[in-house]
Parts: sequence; C-alpha cells; structure tokens
Amino acid sequence: MQKHNQLEVDKRRTFAIISHPDAGKTTITEKLLLFGGAIQQAGEVRARKSARYATSDWMEMEKQRGISVTSSVMKFTYRDFEINLLDTPGHNDFSEDTYRVLTAVDSVLMVIDSVKGVESQTKKLLEVCRLRSTPIMTFINKLDREGREPLDLIDEIESVLQIQCAPMTWPVGMGKRFRGTYHLYRKELTFFDPDAEQGTGQIATMNDLADPRLDELLGSQVEELRNDVELLEGAAHPFEEEAYLAGLQTPVFFGSAINTFGIQQLLDTFVDHAPSPLPRAAQSRVVSPYEEPFTAFAFKIQANMDPAHRDRIAFFRICSGKFTRGMKVRHVRTGRDTQLSNATIFMAQDRTNVDEAYPGDIIGIHNHGTIKIGDTFTQGEDLKYTGIPSFAPEHFRKVRLLDPLKSKALEKGLTQLAEEGTTQVFRPLMGSDWIVGAVGVLQFDVVMHRLEYEYNVRATYEPVGYVTARWVTGDKRKLDEFQKREAMACYLDGEGRLAYLAPSQWRLDNTMENWKELEFHATQEHN
Ligand code: GDP
Repeated sequence: MQKHNQLEVDKRRTFAIISHPDAGKTTITEKLLLFGGAIQQAGEVRARKSARYATSDWMEMEKQRGISVTSSVMKFTYRDFEINLLDTPGHNDFSEDTYRVLTAVDSVLMVIDSVKGVESQTKKLLEVCRLRSTPIMTFINKLDREGREPLDLIDEIESVLQIQCAPMTWPVGMGKRFRGTYHLYRKELTFFDPDAEQGTGQIATMNDLADPRLDELLGSQVEELRNDVELLEGAAHPFEEEAYLAGLQTPVFFGSAINTFGIQQLLDTFVDHAPSPLPRAAQSRVVSPYEEPFTAFAFKIQANMDPAHRDRIAFFRICSGKFTRGMKVRHVRTGRDTQLSNATIFMAQDRTNVDEAYPGDIIGIHNHGTIKIGDTFTQGEDLKYTGIPSFAPEHFRKVRLLDPLKSKALEKGLTQLAEEGTTQVFRPLMGSDWIVGAVGVLQFDVVMHRLEYEYNVRATYEPVGYVTARWVTGDKRKLDEFQKREAMACYLDGEGRLAYLAPSQWRLDNTMENWKELEFHATQEHN
C-alpha cells in the first residue's frame, strides 16, 4: 500500500503520563516542555495547575476553564519529532475522562515515586492500558530523596503491575548519596549535580562496568553499582523493542524530575522507540495512519470554553489522512456532512488555529452539542472507530428535582451531560427518579453545578443503595422476562440501553447466576 504523509506520520508521538497524584507528573510535564522549547521557564505548568486546583470552589474552577483546557493537549517538538502530550485529569479523583484520554494515545509514560513505589491509581490506570496493550515507559522519580531500594522497586513493578522491567539506566545511591545514573546500554555515567543547569553534571563514557575510571569517579559507591547490575542480570530483562511495543515490557529510567535529572535520557529513548501513530480498529476494518482519506474520532468533550457562547469543544484524535482547514467531513453517526472550519490546535501556551494536522494530532472542534463522545468523522466512508468505553459506575446518586416544573429541563441536562461523558445517567423503568452514576465522585459536583448554571435546574442528590451496574443484552424474549421480574433494578442509560443496577456484589453474582442466558457487561462502547 502506498504510504501517504509518511514523513509526517512517522515523526509524531502521541502519549499521556499516568501516575498516582504527587508522583511528579506535573513536574515532568514541565521539564519535557522545557526541552521542547514550548515553555520558557519552569513554573508555568505548575502555576496553571494551582490555578486549576487550588480551590475546591467549582465556580473558581470554571473561571479558570480557558487555562485548564489549553493545557489538555500540549504539543511540542523535540529533535525532529512532533510530540502531543495529552493531559489526564490531575485531580485525586479518578474519572472516566482519564480512561478516554488513554484511548487516544499510542503510548504512555508511567511515573513512580521512588519513596512510595507502586500506588493504587497507577495500578488502576495500568489495567486500562493493558486493555489496549499500550506500550509503557517508566520513570522512577525523586531519587534525590531516601527512597526504596531500586531492585525492590523493579520487583514490585514486575509483580504488582505484571509487566517485565528492562532498566535502561541504574542509579548510583539515592538521597544525599545520589551520585547519578549509569546508562546500561550507552555505558555512560551521568553525574547528578543539583547546582548545574538542568541537574546534569559531567557525563563520562566507559568501556564497561569494569572500567577502572568508574572506581576513580565513584569511589566506594562503585561496588554498589557493580553488585546491583550483576543482580539485575539475573533478575531483570534486557530491553527488547518488540516486547515494549507489545506492552509486555517497560523500559525503566531513574531520575529526579525536580532537578531535571534523567529527563533527557528518557525523552531521547522515548522519541527513538515509542510508536508513531498506530493503525486503529474500526468496526469493519483496521485503518492505517498512512491511508489518504481523513478519519478521526471524538474522545473528549469540554463544555463552556467561553461562557458567553456556551459552546463545546470536541477533541478529535486524527487517525488517518490529513486535516486541512475548512475541509468537509462526514459525521458518521448522523450521516451529515459538515465543514470543519474552525479547528483549534492546543499548544502548551495558547490555542492557535490550525491549517493542517496529521495522524496522531489532536484538534479541537467547536460545536453546539451535536458531537458525542466516540463519534467518527470520515471523508464519506461509513466507518465507526471502536474502543471508547463507558465503565460501569462505582458511585450512584438519586437526583431529586427541587422545582417539579423543570422535569423536561432536567432530562435534557442529564442526557446532554451524559453525551459529553461528564457522567452516566439511568432512567428507571418504574418510577421517576433519575440516577446519576460516576466512576469518581467529583463528577457529581460537576453535574449539579452545570445543571444549575447551564440548564437552570435546581436539584439535590439523595443516596441510593447501588454499588455497581451492568449493561444487559441477550435474546429479546428473555430480556422482556428479565425486565418484568427485575423491574425495580432495571434502568435505561442515556443511549437507551438496558442496565441492571445492583445493591451489592453478592446480589449481582446471584442475578447473573439466575439469568445465565443473558449477558452482563461491565463496559460499554459509546455508539
Ligand atoms: P503530580 O501530582 O504527579 O502532578 O506531582 P507534582 O509534579 O505536582 O509533584 C508533587 C510534589 O513532588 C511537588 O511538591 C514536587 O515539587 C515534588 N517533586 C516532584 N519531583 C520531585 C523530585 O524529583 N524530587 C523531589 N524531592 N520532589 C519532587
């Protein structure tokens, strides 16, 4: 097959950083942007982050919206590469947004705090990556502090996260005794110097680990390094690009992000080995990024970028072809052709209008609620990209309307918010109280706030005794019977699909056992 846009596709890298809060994601983002020349001084990303999260007052967060969205996608260049770094929500609360961002990237960078090791959220996020065999690079951060033994950390990543580790660099000491890292493949010793610009001191190239210059440079700490590396040879794995690309092995780097130490080593390996935009599965076939016709899908929708207009921005991941300003595309779900005249590309600093964009790039398209999460856009082909999931919510609230005359507005608001992926909604088969379901509880506050300010609906939440949900499919007659017998626990989601809400895991297991002919799904694709 002829490869269209080959140069443009091959030089793109689209990724996200996953980590537990406080491991150093913001700091690393900032340092990466510094290397990419996208920001001029450290502190810019942090300033925005604190503007976003310093206050729990949602109104304040609204005011900062323009800022938070600008940094949703950060594009920068490094060497000859065009890099798209997608931000995942930085809030402690785990949300579905993160899942969806992970469907739009080709690889991820996992950050681990060397003091804390593998933490809960990293574990959860890694499970999502595993669903798509996403390639993962690892940065073990904060070596300037007294942390866990590096061999322990490797062991923990392998056993808890079930992924092979291939250390690329190895630290010499930690905390006060942190001297730097030894690059196991380049055989380079890079000294840590917190006073040097960008934390990188002298770099010395060795013949191998037995090189007597190492003894001179490291003194008594050289034995530690030699012993560790000897142990590694038995315990860890040599780097294999193929295993990395298959998501089976993660190359591991050590460093101190706050001192910019280890970041460039990571970035170099990243651009050299991380995948360029990958082929992507649609329902009918797999689409190569080198195909000539433009295709893209919407993975995230952000409302109220501009409070005066109440418009929304749909973020598209381009999968094939070339975007040009003003091009006409088919919105496959509605069957309508529309003109993409005002796409925005998000740079680290500003939004700029884009004239051209390629596979791997993210563009933002203004719309008034016509685009839903998961929608595919093509140049005419009837194609639907798969894999934008909704996850069974883990938290539920009943919505109680305060003004009974507003039930139409409530319905509209809840349905639209569900389409945007802000939350999930469930309408009961019996009774009238809507249920809102979320993966992270922060989503509830967002919904209430937006109902009031955008839809002029005042409502409150009441607790409701559900712990999980399953989408139910199967033979129509059986389904009808199920709906009759389990009517009290049956709901329709925002897209009209049947869902069963369970008050306990035990009850769910029991129901599934009793209705073996039906299928119960914990995830569901947007359609
Ligand atoms: P995020 O929540 O993952 O985005 O983490 P941040 O980048 O905001 O970092 C959390 C805290 O750890 C901040 O106080 C950082 O200054 C600090 N931090 C980040 N990197 C390092 C590091 O390499 N060494 C030390 N000692 N602290 C760091």
